[in-house]
This record gives sequence, C-alpha cells and structure tokens, in this order.
Amino acid sequence: MDQNDNPRHQGLRKKLVDGLKIKGIRNENVLAAIGEVPRHLFMDSGFVNFAYKDQAFPIGAGQTISQPYTVAFQTQLLEVEKNQKVLEVGTGSGYQAAVLCAMGAKVFTIERQKELYNKVHKFLPAIGYSPACFFGDGYKGLPTLAPFDRIIVTAGAPTVPLPLKYQLKVGGKMVIPVGDNNKQEMYVVNRVGENDYRIEKHGRFLFVPMLKGIVNF
Ligand code: SAH
Repeated sequence: MDQNDNPRHQGLRKKLVDGLKIKGIRNENVLAAIGEVPRHLFMDSGFVNFAYKDQAFPIGAGQTISQPYTVAFQTQLLEVEKNQKVLEVGTGSGYQAAVLCAMGAKVFTIERQKELYNKVHKFLPAIGYSPACFFGDGYKGLPTLAPFDRIIVTAGAPTVPLPLKYQLKVGGKMVIPVGDNNKQEMYVVNRVGENDYRIEKHGRFLFVPMLKGIVNF
C-alpha cells in the first residue's frame, strides 16, 4: 500500500476540492487546506482508496473521520484567521486539526479516547502538522489555556456545554452540532458580549455522539 503523497493522490484531492466547490464551499483558505492535507494518510490502509471520496470512514476505536464536506462546511462557518487560537473537541483521526493547522491557526485539540490520542499526537507532527494535543474530556474544554478565538466541536452534543461557552473570547465563535444521537443541527454560537451569545442554525448533520468522561486504554 502506497503511504506516500504522490501525484495520483494530489490529482484525487484536486477532484475532491472541485466537488466541494460544486456543493457550495466557497472559502478559498478552506479549499486550499483540503487541497493540501494528505487525507489518505489518516485512514486505515485498507481504506486508502476511499480517502478522496466525499464520505465519512471508520478510523478504529468505533470512531469515524468526518466526511470532507462536513469538515469543509464546519471550517467555513468557523471563519478562522491566521494565528487565531482554535480549540477542537474530538481529535478523532486528526484530519480536522491538520486542516486548521494548514490554515495557519494555533490549534488545541482534545480527544477522550486514549488510543486515538496516542496515535494522533505522534502522527500529526510526523507529517508536518503540530497542534497541541490533549487527552481529556472536551465537555470541560481547556480552562488553563482559554480564552479561544474559535471553538469547533466535531461530535454531536446534546446541548452547548457551558465551560466551552465561557472559554470563548468575546467576539469569538463556536461551531457545534447540537441534537440527539440520530441527528444534529449545526449551530454557530457567537459570543457578542460577556453574557450575550447569539445562535445561528445551519442545517442538519449526523455526527458520532459527544460522550462524557475519558476512555483510558
Ligand atoms: N475531528 C475528527 C472527527 C472526529 S469523530 C476528525 O477529523 O477525524 C468525533 C470524535 O470525538 C471521536 O474521536 C470521539 O472519541 C471524540 N469525542 C466524543 N466525545 C468527546 C469528548 N467529550 N471529549 C473529547 N472528544 C470526544
């Protein structure tokens, strides 16, 4: 199995990006980042041929790497700018974190499953992306490193966790799918004042659920 990034992979990525444009993704920085990050390296080798299809895939530990369209849509809503501090909840495969790094953000990412954390915090630097990786419960965020300009949650939450609201800068925004296990609605939570949050809703999605606590193996 070819684990390198070769012209064939680059060609497939370009097609993926063209497909995302047709589906309505407009932000050039998001499209450039997806065009750059070698998604096939994030998947189990058996799935490499599917890496550039616009589909979600299993990554082990019962979790999935989000569909490229979903990554692009959430990242576009995030309106992230270079050098901003971005907190991601749900590291998973590390793909979303790499996309944010490729956009020049300072990325902090939390995962509750030790197995995934162990894998990703070594793998990402090896392919040139260095977010700060944390093993812990994303419901709590990272209080000692707050506030964040942006927060992105990549698992479906029943409600917007209060600690995450508090860890957002005034003027910042959080993108989070909110709902039950069968469907969620994509929320953008804008913190417009110390105690003033405005929510916009951006359609239905389906994520794996955000769960409490940690899995320590
Ligand atoms: N962003 C990932 C997709 C993640 S799937 C990627 O690009 O591949 C959702 C991830 O959220 C899973 O890995 C799951 O273990 C994790 N997760 C669920 N609840 C969590 C919590 N409370 N804190 C941190 N991570 C959590």
